[in-house]
Amino acid sequence: MQLEWHTAGTGEVLEALDSSEGGLSREEALSRLRAKGPNRLTPPESVSPVKRFLRQFNNLLIYVLIAAGILTAALGHMVDALVIFGVVVLNAIFGFVQEGKAEKAMDALKQMLSLQALVRRNGRTHQLNAEELVAGDIVLLQSGDKVPADMRLLKVRELRADESILTGESLPVEKNTDAVRSETALGDRFCMAFSGTLVTYGKAEGVVTATGDRTEIGRISSMLAHVETLQTPLLRRVEAFGRTLTISIVALSIFMFVFGVFVRGYRPEEMFNAAVGLAVAAIPEGLPAIMTITLAIGVQSMARRRTIIRRLPAVETLGSVSVICTDKTGTLTCNEMTVRSISLGDKGFQVTGVGYDPHGAFLLDGGEVDLALHPDLRMLAHVSLLCNDAVLEQEEGRWVLSGDPTEGALLSFGMKAGYSADAEREEWPRIDLIPFESEHRFMATLHHNHDGMAYVYLKGAPEVVFERCMSVWSIDGDLPFRPEFWQKKAEDMASGGERLLAIACKPVTTRLSTLGFGDVAEGFGLVGLIGMIDPPRDEAALAVSRCRDAGIRVKMITGDHADTARAIGRITGIGDGLKVLRGSEIESMDDLELIGKAAEIDVFARSSPLHKLRLVTALQAGGNVVAMTGDGVNDAPALKRADVGIAMGGKGTEVSKEAAEMVLTDDNFATIANAVEEGRTVYDNLTKSILFVLPTNGGEALSILFAVLLGYTLPITAVQILWVNMVTAVTLALALAFEKPEENVMRRSPRNQDEPLLSRFVAWRIVYVSCILVLGTFGLFLWYERAGCTDACARTVAVNTLVFFEIFYLFSARFFTRSVFSPGGLFGNRYVLYASGALVLLQVVFTYMPFMQQVFATVPLDLQQWLVILAVSSSVLFFVEIEKAVRRRFRLGEGDVP
Ligand code: ATP
Repeated sequence: MQLEWHTAGTGEVLEALDSSEGGLSREEALSRLRAKGPNRLTPPESVSPVKRFLRQFNNLLIYVLIAAGILTAALGHMVDALVIFGVVVLNAIFGFVQEGKAEKAMDALKQMLSLQALVRRNGRTHQLNAEELVAGDIVLLQSGDKVPADMRLLKVRELRADESILTGESLPVEKNTDAVRSETALGDRFCMAFSGTLVTYGKAEGVVTATGDRTEIGRISSMLAHVETLQTPLLRRVEAFGRTLTISIVALSIFMFVFGVFVRGYRPEEMFNAAVGLAVAAIPEGLPAIMTITLAIGVQSMARRRTIIRRLPAVETLGSVSVICTDKTGTLTCNEMTVRSISLGDKGFQVTGVGYDPHGAFLLDGGEVDLALHPDLRMLAHVSLLCNDAVLEQEEGRWVLSGDPTEGALLSFGMKAGYSADAEREEWPRIDLIPFESEHRFMATLHHNHDGMAYVYLKGAPEVVFERCMSVWSIDGDLPFRPEFWQKKAEDMASGGERLLAIACKPVTTRLSTLGFGDVAEGFGLVGLIGMIDPPRDEAALAVSRCRDAGIRVKMITGDHADTARAIGRITGIGDGLKVLRGSEIESMDDLELIGKAAEIDVFARSSPLHKLRLVTALQAGGNVVAMTGDGVNDAPALKRADVGIAMGGKGTEVSKEAAEMVLTDDNFATIANAVEEGRTVYDNLTKSILFVLPTNGGEALSILFAVLLGYTLPITAVQILWVNMVTAVTLALALAFEKPEENVMRRSPRNQDEPLLSRFVAWRIVYVSCILVLGTFGLFLWYERAGCTDACARTVAVNTLVFFEIFYLFSARFFTRSVFSPGGLFGNRYVLYASGALVLLQVVFTYMPFMQQVFATVPLDLQQWLVILAVSSSVLFFVEIEKAVRRRFRLGEGDVP
């Protein structure tokens, strides 16, 4: 029988899993991986294709069409009925295929966010893809991680885990290593960490006991069956609009039927055909599928530009963002730290070298120094190496860092001073630590050496370390500590944009074996100040100015020193280069005062995640739509609170990614600006497809309505209308989904979130184009009727006119108000050209193929008729372009037009 992991002691568990604290060997791990398969949950069974296909029919628009089909069949018009059903099925196939594609695209995105795990194998720690984990692997957990597999904990340092996805308990659970009784409930097995739960605090080491579907979360896979549907507020509004539209259309059709029969004296059967025609004409049955695919294409194109959307509504919200709050480190800067300067009170050293490469020299007054003469510098290097969790390794000639870049820089500095991290760690083993958290801004470690000496080493933000110092360390005995002197030093170093760390130490007795906050509260001897550079990203300043042009205010919220923040702000163009609000000042303000300050000031320094949360809330209270970046566990509340929470794909914790709406795969601020551009473009393209599709329906419906009201023959039959709707939706409207951003997307202000679906501009354009379409289509029909053509011939002309209207209008619809009369305007979107070409072919088939002539009652047209059709239908291009020119000239509807 298998051991119950939670009931056994750590040694027993390791033995049962045939593992040890040093971990498995690579070979053993590989062979276990081969035997048990990857650590991955079998994806929930997706909805069966048949069910997905049937779901396409579950739509009020389609019900109306089906009812119309049944009634038509009942009246004996079999061909017409078949066409209606054909269209219904075709529409379902179209929707089915598109939805499938869209869902695949979303699934692919999920794959991109693969989970990493810190694993010890062969005694060395590696970062691995969590799918490669096997039972027996030793995994290191720290705050912010998502637990990658079920584990029995071996060492715990104040570990707390949020297990709500497993147990429903929303408060984090405190973990330990003590075995519990067999029947203990899952939520009380404190010595276990479960796959999929989140580490909210502390550190731990554990041995993997189960992977993949054998984990606790794998067993309740029903919980994971929840798949996010392709829904956004806009799509929901379109759906609701579709429902209202359908009901109005049905009511109008009934009214028309009654009016036609009783007032105009039509035969009921003829009127019935007209009513069905009207319903069919006015219903935009293809629109929902087009909108879904437009959204999916937009999300895919964002992924290509390194933004992964986790929650779809964010795509739309991005277009409305008016403030972006960004971190500094890694987002605006490269997050590649290098120690540049060192202050040991009266001596200021410069450090040479590039990146993490541990080769470089120490200069004092321009000359290279001999470290043997500077014991304080050696002490600084020694503490820098030991109060440090990073690992630097040479891979193919490059120095690669695992861990925090700040610590990487310190490691490289220690190595430049001639120390070996491994040798130091060997000689001064670490007994305990208080890990770095951005709340307390320091890290402390406790070391005992083999000669019975013990020290606490402290590194952190200068103010935090200074508070705990009472002397200055020197080899000849402690010197007095003068806070003002050091404060001034720190400010001088920070004003050049350097990121600062202070280093201190304190001798203790070897009896101290665990480190608590009380042990690091006072009594330290300051060793020195270290300044490191983290160069701003080249593209940051440009991205900030693009945001400004787009009416978006960029604010920097950093944990760093005020002077460092101001200097980086100056280089990247954030803030006025003077005003900085510190976390401590935020604390002393009430909410009302903060609303004012948050609006006025752009650089926030020494701020903790709690300040971030208050700032987002204050900015939102000031009427802003806020995007906020974050990477730590404690950033999660602010990310959730923001309208668009943005997590970092690289350095971000899993907890922050779970809380965010989108993830930047390159952690780069410039990517946010690109995402805003994409978000605005997607929204534009959705609006464009509405602007394109609805006038077709409007034109058709009005043609029929006028014919009945004025007592004429119907210019287009119901089945012909269906043909037009299908071919134009499938071919033409889809081309707009590929439309590139308009020139001015990043030069207009953010969209108002409360903007109605049909803004004045959209409503006007729909009515305007509908009228042009009615006049042309109905006009030509009447003209040919008067000229003695048959109904069939006049109708063939009318249908072709309508379709060619659509083709010409498609070119205009590419831009809201910009003229399309330019090479880029006419030929810039190749999908528009393909779609137009395909449609011309379809119309030829529709007009000349005998089978189609039978089904749709069409007749061949002659050249002159074609020329007339082209002349009339191309007018829409000119009319819409004239409207655009007038808008541009008189600046009409500004603020309303996207
Ligand atoms: P942001 O990413 O928000 O721009 P940040 O990275 O500068 O800011 P934090 O990571 O909260 O913010 O760091 C705040 C301060 O804490 C730093 O200025 C530095 O002095 C100190 N600090 C940073 N990392 C460590 C660490 N690993 N150990 C000790 N102190 C650290």
